[in-house]
Parts: sequence; C-alpha cells; structure tokens
Amino acid sequence: MLLRPTLHRGLPNANGNAPSQQSRAGVLNCELGMSKPFDIELERLTGQASYSEAFPGVDAGQRGTFFLETFGCQMNDHDSEKVAGLLLSRGYRQAETPEAASLILYNTCSIREKAAQKVFSRLGEYRERQGEGKVIGVLGCVAQQEGEDIFKRAPWVSLVCGSASYSKLPEMLAQLEAGNQRVTGLDTDTDETFETEVTRRDNPWRAYLTIIEGCDKACSYCVVPFTRGPERSRASDSILREVRQLAELGYSEVQLLGQTVNSYADPTARKTRFSELLLAVADVEGIRRVRFTTSHPSDFTPDIVEAIGRELKICDHVHLPVQSGSTRVLRAMQRTYSREEYLEKIAMIRSAKRPIAITTDIIVGFPGERESEFEETLSLLDEVQYDSMFSFKYSPRPNTPSLSMSDSISEEEKGRRLAILQDKQREIQAAKNAKLVGERFEVLVSGKSRRENQWTGYTTSHRMINFASQESELLGTYVQVRVTGATPNGLVGEHVT
Ligand code: SAM
Ligand code: SF4
Repeated sequence: MLLRPTLHRGLPNANGNAPSQQSRAGVLNCELGMSKPFDIELERLTGQASYSEAFPGVDAGQRGTFFLETFGCQMNDHDSEKVAGLLLSRGYRQAETPEAASLILYNTCSIREKAAQKVFSRLGEYRERQGEGKVIGVLGCVAQQEGEDIFKRAPWVSLVCGSASYSKLPEMLAQLEAGNQRVTGLDTDTDETFETEVTRRDNPWRAYLTIIEGCDKACSYCVVPFTRGPERSRASDSILREVRQLAELGYSEVQLLGQTVNSYADPTARKTRFSELLLAVADVEGIRRVRFTTSHPSDFTPDIVEAIGRELKICDHVHLPVQSGSTRVLRAMQRTYSREEYLEKIAMIRSAKRPIAITTDIIVGFPGERESEFEETLSLLDEVQYDSMFSFKYSPRPNTPSLSMSDSISEEEKGRRLAILQDKQREIQAAKNAKLVGERFEVLVSGKSRRENQWTGYTTSHRMINFASQESELLGTYVQVRVTGATPNGLVGEHVT
C-alpha cells in the first residue's frame, strides 16, 4: 500500500522568513524543482507484509479517511506522523486532499502570531461547507492556547486537542466515532509522553524521534511552556528499542527532538545522560547519523562536545539558539545565561576534537531593545561566525510575561533590524561557504532535480549541497561530493568516487 504524506509547513528558512523545505534536515527540496514528497510503503514502515498483518482485525478505511495538515516545527511534523500512525491503526485511510477526507485535522503552531492566524484562515474555509458531514479537528499549540474558544470562533470544529493530551487521542477519537460533536483534550498537567505503536513517517531515510516533550524553561516571550506543558522525558530503553526497529526498517539517520533536547532526563533507574544516549543511539547497528535539536545553551555540557568529538556518527552540528547578543535583553527574555556565558559555550564547542557547525535562532525587536543592544547582536554574529541562522521579529504572544512589557518596538523598526541582521549573516555565510570550495563531504542524497543528473542532499554538518552525478539512482544513498561552488545558502558540487 502506498501512503502519501500530507502537506507540510516547514520551519522558517535560514533567512528567518517564509517557511522553506530547504531549511529542514532531510526534507526534499521542492523549491529548486526537486522531486515531490515520497510515497512510503506501509509495509516498509511496519515491517509487516500487508495492512492486515500490521493491524490484525482492522479493515483499511473502515472508519473513513483523514487529511492532516501540519504547521510549525519538526516536533509538530513528528507529532503528526504519530497521530497519522494512530489513525491508520484504527482503520482510517489517509486522503491526499481535504475534499477526499471525512476527518480533517490541522496540527497547529502558535509560536508567532502569523502562524496562529494561518490556522483560523484555514478553518474559515469550512464556514460555508458545514453540513458536508466532515469532522474537523484542531490539534497542537493553537488548540491548547485557544481551548474551547475555538468552538466559538469556528463552531464547525469538533475536536480541540493540545499536544500534552495526545496520549488520550484514542479515547477522544472513540468519542467522535460515537457521534460526539465536541471533544476536548486540554490538560497540560501530565507526566505522560506520546508513544504510538506505528508512526506514519514522511521521510524514507531520516526518522524523527521525540525524546523530551514540553519545556520547563520560562523564556518571557515564549508560548511553548503553556502550549506543550511541563518537561517529560521518554524512557531511554524505549527510545533505544525504537531506534533498533528503525534501523531494521532501513533508516540510517535519526534526529532526536525536544524543545530543549539536551535537558533530557532519563526517567528510568539507568539515568542515562543525554551524551550517553547519543552514544548509545550511534552504537545501534545500521545507524550512520545521529542528529539532535534544539539544544538549550544553559544545559549544553562538556560531555556532549566530548561525545561528538569521539563518535563520528554523531553529526558535527549543534543548533544553539542565542536569541540576543545583549546580556540585558537576555535577562529580560529570562534566557538564564549572559552573552559571556553563551560565548563560553561556543568556545567549548570550538575546542572539540573536530570542527562542529553551529547554527542559531535570533529574535529582533524584543520590547525595550535599544539600538546599541541590537548592535551587540550584530557583533555576536561577527564573533561566533554561525554557519546558519533563523531570525524572527519579536511577536507578542498571549500568556507570556513579555506581553505586558513596555517600550514595544514598531513593526517597521523590527523589519529594519531583521534586514540588517540577515544581510550580515548572508555575508558571513557567503565567506564561510566559499572557503569550502574544493573540500569533500559525505552526503546523504535526499532529492533528485527535474534537471538531468542533478541531485541534492545534506552533509553531516547539515549543509545542503546540490551536485551533479551521472549515476541513475542515488536517493537514500551516501556519496562523496566535492564542492565546486558556493552561495550564501548552500553549496554546489560533483559526485566523486
Ligand atoms: N526551545 C528552543 C530554544 O530554546 O531555543 C526554541 C523553540 S521555538 C519553537 C523556536 C524559535 O522561535 C525560538 O528559538 C525563538 O527564536 C522563536 N520564538 C519563540 N517565541 C517567539 C516570539 N514570541 N516571537 C518571535 N520569535 C519567537
Ligand atoms: Fe520556548 Fe524558551 Fe522553552 Fe525554547 S527554552 S521552548 S524558547 S520557553
């Protein structure tokens, strides 16, 4: 059986604005005219020969069809993969369009205002179409944030469920199937993690795996602690069991996910540290690459750097969001480190046994950010020389402490600062990438261009590279590529043997 992934909305791209498929690890590059998303056979995902063997006693489609659209980050993408797996195992079939589906789900993001607005405009499309018998559900951060108010704004919605309640989804689905019109899952007071028997994966080679849910930090601008609930780590033996299954199913790259992935605290008696977990995952036969994101600077410890230096399968890339280069702004953001402490972490990473690429997130225009403080962020870019950056205009969010802070910065000024910041980073990236011309990298090939003999993939350091090869089939393989040219956003090269 072929299952087609539903639509996805990606992380902001390296310029921090429009979502781009280019910016996400292992995701196909649609914008350069690369091939469409993959169909992954259910047999490949479950290791079983057929749907009936994968889900004994369940008829495919007996409960109808579903369409699931995802907004936001990789964690949302992966939550959707698990929700889709759950639906398949209950006898739903996946539809390619909302028109063809009886159950339509939106997995939502509320990190910035624009992301949340997008969901309501999507829901608005159903205003005129009530009575078509479709069940509509809102999952994720907007569901958690808006709660039952969603029923007021869009009375045609039947399911509102935040990510901290996903483990109760089977019961909620049963209520919907029994004809219940309004079902909610909005409790965030939980110590459960969301685990499914089957995960409907969207990528044939790189598998996401959430190891820690929620967030216990309290950054003053951020909705995540409210929308995703408190930090809950998944048991290390359960993680390793899934990694072994993934390797048996042919996955060679795993990406460990968490809002603060390196705050991982194994709930079992083993008390496996995050760095030990990285090494244990790398040790699983068949795994060639281990990635992890997002790391919080305060919990970034020397043993993680040591593990990357020692084990080549742990990718030489750390995403370490700084948010601002000014200690005063960092304090107002409640980021728990100063500029100097952050720079000490960078020095520690730079002292590793092998070079490690470093990327970051930055917010401009936080309330009260002075011109001189913004300039400190610019000078931090000069000092650190990031390999890539996601950058955002500060967006005031409900329930956050920064909402009531005075001295808001105008949208125009935020836009000006963002443009200056992005210009600077573009220059840095152009210079850094130019220095790579002539070097050789191992690339996991993840896309094929419509242009003949053109392919795309990622290096271990998460650099995207478009390259030429005369081979007829390379997708999913690891090849050596020599860099022949560079742009600020990527590399071009040729396949070498
Ligand atoms: N947990 C990660 C961390 O601590 O860096 C980040 C998770 S958040 C989903 C991704 C990024 O969105 C953040 O690093 C921050 O730069 C940005 N972000 C979060 N809240 C924001 C807000 N209110 N306005 C603008 N950007 C925001
Ligand atoms: Fe949000 Fe801060 Fe938690 Fe990251 S660490 S998810 S920015 S509260």
